[in-house]
Formats: sequence, C-alpha cells, structure tokens
Amino acid sequence: MSTTIRNESEKINIDQIIRANVPLRMHSTYRTGGAADYLAEPGHLDELREALRWAEERNLPVTILAGGSNVLISDKGVEGLVILLTGLNRHHIRGVLCVAHSGLPLDTAINVAIEHNLSGLEPLGGLPGSIGGAVWGNAGVREVSIMDFVEWVDYVDYGGNLFRYYPFKADRQYRASFFSGKECVLYEVALRLIPNKNSSEARLAKEESRNIRLRKGQFDLPSAGCMFKNPPGESAGRLIEKTGLKQMNYHGAIVSANHANFILKSSQDTTSADIYALSEMVREKIEKETSISLEREVQLIGRW
Ligand SMILES: Cc1cc2nc3c(=O)[nH]c(=O)nc-3n(C[C@H](O)[C@H](O)[C@H](O)COP(=O)(O)OP(=O)(O)OC[C@H]3O[C@@H](n4cnc5c(N)ncnc54)[C@H](O)[C@@H]3O)c2cc1C
Repeated sequence: MSTTIRNESEKINIDQIIRANVPLRMHSTYRTGGAADYLAEPGHLDELREALRWAEERNLPVTILAGGSNVLISDKGVEGLVILLTGLNRHHIRGVLCVAHSGLPLDTAINVAIEHNLSGLEPLGGLPGSIGGAVWGNAGVREVSIMDFVEWVDYVDYGGNLFRYYPFKADRQYRASFFSGKECVLYEVALRLIPNKNSSEARLAKEESRNIRLRKGQFDLPSAGCMFKNPPGESAGRLIEKTGLKQMNYHGAIVSANHANFILKSSQDTTSADIYALSEMVREKIEKETSISLEREVQLIGRW
C-alpha cells in the first residue's frame, strides 16, 4: 500500500526544520562524534517527507538518528542530511494497541501502556532509545524482544511514499528487522499488548527491569549497549571475558568490567575513533583466538 505525497508540504518552511553544521555529540549516548552537514528535526509526517524531498533534490545522503543509544558517530561528522526523530513523539491507546510515533522513548511508551492497564513490555523497562529504533534493530532482553508485540509499522521510503508493514512470525530476527539496512524511516508503530487488571504489579515489574540495569552499572559511564551481536549459540560478552579482554583500555575507551560486551567511555577526551579502535582490537583478538568473527551491533554513522 502506498500513498502519494500531498501538497501540504508546500506550506512548510523548510528553513525552520533544517540547519547546517550541527554538532551531534549530544544526540548519542556515547557523547562523541562530529557535526551533521545538515540536520532536520521534523515534528510531523509532512515535515519528515519535506526533509526527505529536500535531500533528494540536492542528491544528499540521508542518515536517520533517534535516541542515539545504538550508534557511534564519526568524529569527522556526517555527510548530507541527518534526520533526528525525537520530535516525532505523539502516542495514543486504541483498545489493546499502543500506537506511537517512532521518536517516542520506548520507556515512555511502556509507562503509557501501563497507565492504560496494558502489559507485556515490562521486561524492556529502562532500555534506552526510541520505539522506532527498538523496532529497527529488534531490541530486546533475553526473554522478550519488541517484535513480539508489533502489530504494524507505518514507514516512509526516501521518496516520501508511506507504507504499512505487518510483520509475520518468520520475520523475527535477532537484533535485526525487515527495516535494517533499507532506505526508509519508521514513522509510527502499533504494539499489541495484553490487558491487565493490576497496573501496579506491571509498574513494579517494569521498575525492577530498570533497576536491574542500574544495579549492573549500565548507566555509570557512557556506552551504546552491546558492541557486538551474539554469534550463534555463543555470547559475545562471554567470549570477550574468556579471552581476558575485560578492562582493556585504549585512550579511555574501556571494555567494561561488568559486561565485557559493553565498551565504555571513561574520559571526556575519549573520541569515537578511540572507541572504534578498541572495538577492532577486541574483534581481531577474538577472531585470532577463537576463529569467530564478531558482527558489530552498534551502528557506525558518518564519515568512517
Ligand atoms: C546502557 C544501554 C543498554 C542497552 N541495552 C540494550 C538491551 O538490553 N537490548 C538491546 O536490544 N539493546 C540495548 N541497547 C541498545 C539500544 O538501546 C537499542 O538498540 C535501541 O533500541 C536503539 O534505539 P535508538 O532510538 O537509540 O536508535 P539509534 O541509536 O538512534 O539508531 C540505531 C539505528 O536504528 C536506525 N533507526 C533508528 N530509528 C529509526 C527509524 N525510526 N527509522 C529508520 N531507522 C531508524 C538508525 O539509523 C541506526 O542505524 C542498550 C544501549 C545502552 C546505551
């Protein structure tokens, strides 16, 4: 299903949503990286489409950024247009569906669902980032991932055409989705949840999930979560730990002592290049010792 662009976008003052040479470090949980050549912050669908059209007319590459909790932004900045989705954050409840714009923080979506006596997402409590980012990479914890709940996703291709996607079971991939690697922007997500009679129990369960992360020190120092995906039948963290790489340090980028798959930024001066260099050292060492080639989970953005 495709919808053509309406003429409403002509009313949009494009200069109000696009700025040049905008630092991005505050839009990444690592707090590193350079500037976007251009940054658009759309607040609704027509602005998003207009930003895409603006980039297409100038033949500029497009990069999508939301919560910035699974990216490493190049110190040399990002070429072309970065579209930051945090302004797309409206939501509503329709029966057992929680319908949210993609830039809404996942944690907020979980709170809204609980307030409406809808359950299921509590194990994802405290997971950083947006609902769209979570769907893009099928974020999750051991027992639950976001795709378990997705009823449909409205997304826009880079030509501005709007589509609705209904996932099916075979779609459920580990830390990947139908959208990963495609030129599209997830715009709105509907999650099918489970009615509950006791919202306070759900609230406690959600808070406990968040507290577990806090107790593990996940937010003590900047990171982007797991650097590598788990190889089939293995745990990347366990491999890194077994290889004796915990607390390996390169210019303040450190392999976490708590969770060896997290690379932390321990100093203000640590750059994206330092974090990347350490991750490559880890990857090469693991490959040499175990012949397993780790695939990066954290997305590299910009001029690498
Ligand atoms: C402390 C910490 C703990 C974490 N723990 C977990 C965990 O337990 N499990 C887990 O799975 N992840 C975890 N993560 C990683 C991260 O939270 C998730 O991957 C999150 O879902 C990313 O969402 P985001 O909005 O921050 O995406 P971003 O980092 O902004 O983007 C990630 C990728 O998705 C693309 N993208 C984002 N939104 C859209 C959209 N609307 N349309 C098209 N493309 C889009 C971006 O282009 C980029 O390639 C953790 C991160 C941190 C910092």
